[in-house]
Amino acid sequence: MTNAFFTYRDDVLHAEAFSLSELAERFGTPLYIYSKAALTQAYDAYSNACKGKNATIHYAVKANSNLAVLSLFAELGAGFDIVSAGELSRVIAAGGNPNRVVFSGVGKHDDEMRYALEKDVFCFNVESRSELTRLNAVAREVGKRARLSIRVNPNVDAKTHPYISTGLRGNKFGVAYEEALSTYREALQLSHLQIVGIDCHIGSQITEVSPYLNAIDKVMDLVHQLEAENISLHHIDVGGGLGITYSDDETPPDGSTFASQLLSHLAERGLGHRQVLFEPGRSLVGNAGILLTKVSFLKPTETKNFAIVDAAMNDLTRPAMYGAYHNIVPVIRRENDNETLYDVVGPVCESGDWLGRDRLLNIETNDLLAIHSVGAYGFSMSSNYNTRPRAAEIIVDGSEAHLVRERETIESLFANEHLLPK
Ligand SMILES: *Cc1c(COP(=O)(O)O)cnc(C)c1O
Repeated sequence: MTNAFFTYRDDVLHAEAFSLSELAERFGTPLYIYSKAALTQAYDAYSNACKGKNATIHYAVKANSNLAVLSLFAELGAGFDIVSAGELSRVIAAGGNPNRVVFSGVGKHDDEMRYALEKDVFCFNVESRSELTRLNAVAREVGKRARLSIRVNPNVDAKTHPYISTGLRGNKFGVAYEEALSTYREALQLSHLQIVGIDCHIGSQITEVSPYLNAIDKVMDLVHQLEAENISLHHIDVGGGLGITYSDDETPPDGSTFASQLLSHLAERGLGHRQVLFEPGRSLVGNAGILLTKVSFLKPTETKNFAIVDAAMNDLTRPAMYGAYHNIVPVIRRENDNETLYDVVGPVCESGDWLGRDRLLNIETNDLLAIHSVGAYGFSMSSNYNTRPRAAEIIVDGSEAHLVRERETIESLFANEHLLPK
């Protein structure tokens, strides 16, 4: 399942028609490489399950917001889930339809609401009472009615990393389950709001279906209570969060199985004619990408061996931030048995700057390594820490490789800065 589009041929790792050594030479390292076929296949898995079911897919832009990725999903028929005006701008620049956009996030500011209203986004996912009144005020100013869902916090355990768990009582996300009904009643009273749906998103990298079924049960209870009060909903947004296989012990269902199971559970719980929205991010892009990096130095010390590579925590933040595991493999497989245990680390001045710990690798200086499963929350979380230009991104499509983001130049990193006057 993991990165099936990146395979060894004659002991050299290939991205479809290309050897990764060839791509490193042509585009430099560190380099993000995505597979168009893998992106398409992940999308198709969801869309096949949604066919004829009044269910739509809204790709969560923050997972990988490259314009080429967005335009591919737009072409495949996706709507989008955004969390900022910047992301809406990207969707539009990529040819996506704002009318198929849901706007999530706990801290939308007035300008962002205004912009989204002007662009006529499909739905605001409102996360608090104060946001509700603010949205109403901004909509009045703009002279529109804002369509909205309330994001409810169903208080279910998604069984994932605490930083990416969002559906528990202690999280900052959504309206507390017990307050959902009264929040809807309040929304009903506000003249420039139009209630259209209900929303939940319980976390990320969730590898089991059961937390979703629990969340759906609670959401559908609310839907029926709202109906009894004549507050009818056109759609139910079940959020995103389906996990991927980073290591073999993670065995999430694929998008198709996942979407089918949720849809049939929703039907059992009285979905009726309502539309269902999915907001997948990671599961559409995560295993469609790898990060190519070159070994700068091998550094044995008394306690550990370090493989110092040219990618760092600024390029791929997940290990430093969540202690996340990414499989790391050499691009060229050596035959001899010089395997050594390494910590794979970057050049950034932080001990938290590691990409993989205790990895058995047979490598030498200048060898290339492929870090797996970086298509989601890889480049999109990258930064310029240590004044490091961000990596280039390419998409391989069979026998073609397209540069979809140029490597940043050093000058561009301080182009917006000013010296103090003399
Ligand atoms: C991040 C996010 C998603 C996507 O989550 P994944 O785990 O990448 O699928 C969907 N909806 C909302 C509201 C989000 O914040």
